[in-house]
Amino acid sequence: MTDYPRLHMIIDGEQVFAGDRRTHKVVNPATGETIGELPLADAADLDRALAAAQRGFRQWRNSTPQERSAVLQGAARLLAERADDIARIATMEQGKPFPEARLEVMMVVNLFNFYAGECQRIYGRTLVRPAGQRSIVTKEPVGPVAAFAPWNFPIGNPGRKLGAPIAAGCSVILKSAEETPASALAIVQALHDAGLPKDVAQAVFGVPDEVSRHLLGSPIIRKLSFTGSTVVGKHLAKLAAEDMKRTTMELGGHGPVLVFDDVDVERVLDAVVPAKYRNCGQVCVSPTRFIVQEGVFDRFVTGFADRARALKVGNGLEAGTQMGPMANPRRPDAMERLIGDARERGGTLRAGGERLGNQGYYYAPSVLSEVPLDAQILNEEPFGPVAIVNPFRGEEDMIGEANRLPYGLAAYLWTDNARRQKVVAREIEAGMVGINGMPIAGADAPFGGVKWSGHGHEDGTEGLEACLGIKTIHEG
Ligand code: NAD
Repeated sequence: MTDYPRLHMIIDGEQVFAGDRRTHKVVNPATGETIGELPLADAADLDRALAAAQRGFRQWRNSTPQERSAVLQGAARLLAERADDIARIATMEQGKPFPEARLEVMMVVNLFNFYAGECQRIYGRTLVRPAGQRSIVTKEPVGPVAAFAPWNFPIGNPGRKLGAPIAAGCSVILKSAEETPASALAIVQALHDAGLPKDVAQAVFGVPDEVSRHLLGSPIIRKLSFTGSTVVGKHLAKLAAEDMKRTTMELGGHGPVLVFDDVDVERVLDAVVPAKYRNCGQVCVSPTRFIVQEGVFDRFVTGFADRARALKVGNGLEAGTQMGPMANPRRPDAMERLIGDARERGGTLRAGGERLGNQGYYYAPSVLSEVPLDAQILNEEPFGPVAIVNPFRGEEDMIGEANRLPYGLAAYLWTDNARRQKVVAREIEAGMVGINGMPIAGADAPFGGVKWSGHGHEDGTEGLEACLGIKTIHEG
């Protein structure tokens, strides 16, 4: 069995342990027990990291595509070899079932392999000019990146924050969530073990507001990459604007799922119920608002609640567990508040609605229906294991409800009507739309949102472009 590792930061090529620094206790959400003590950076640590990032950038911007490719492929190979150990560590610190954590490692393997190819295709162009003159458009790495990754995908988020910048020739200071540090350290370690110069990728932890103000206050950092809540995203975007830093903002969502009455209800439930409770609903693209046409509403909501009640909830390290605990004590508290408010306003609880067990942060898979639109849960991202299922008359009011909120990340649509598939997919304000299926991400597919869900993309060629600046050179 894998032991939880001794925690450290990686700054200026060195492993930095607590010493007399402040620390943060890492807790196993399945048991509530402290499993690690994480050192938190002070101002001197962050200054060292900034100086190293500047050196790392000067070195790595001159690396060849083949060198970058070899590092990314090598790290992908090491991650695949270490997948079981890394996934177990992620489950210990975040709670998700081991098979979900293992899939997350493989997602990073795919992403690094994709960017190992893509970094060899960073092209410019030559403009038409009279003989003797030339104008060329070139792409250059944007510079050192400050990247902040949250706890919900403790492996996948750091992978996304590192893969594209390294492919582009940038250096990165990664601050992953203090609640899930060991998973992030495993990704950085794999890159270093594959030959990445140490100053190109560093890992710091700290008091989030202190770290972001310090890093974003430095002119060395040329790009902010953030995944997390909209409220924090807006705050960081303002800090980045002070110095006109580039930004990629992957923020919250409130995933609408439109279910029309021409579908096979059982087939839809087979897909949407596991998607809802994956990672306890702590997913930015989680399906959340089920906007169901009246003709199939009763069968849909009854079937949903039956399936939710049948899920096996437990420690993510136990075989057969379908849903683990929530990642931290803030989440079950939020569930109680949001579900309580929805019921007070007249919503019907069809399943769950309670904490489970006497240790850890478990919350039952829950289903609410007929919830009024002014309930908090229909306006704020719930980020938890709760489905809200409401009936609607037809296409127009279903699209209206999907677009009602300021969020626009992922939306889903279930209908066998070909005309409706095209019209609704076009009308929905979202960065990603799934039609008759729930997977909406892949190494080659741009991932990002519109409106309050942020801007810019990760993954795909767009993720690489987001780390490149353009320079036009005119030769007279
Ligand atoms: P939060 O919003 O404070 O934190 C979210 C993440 O941002 C954490 O990893 C945190 O370390 C980081 N963060 C917070 N303040 C920061 C700062 N000033 N500078 C840099 N990083 C900062 O709160 P939380 O309780 O962890 O999560 C609450 C909500 O955040 C959730 O309900 C959900 O809506 C949203 N969230 C979204 C995602 C996503 O993938 N889009 C991931 C995690 C959380």
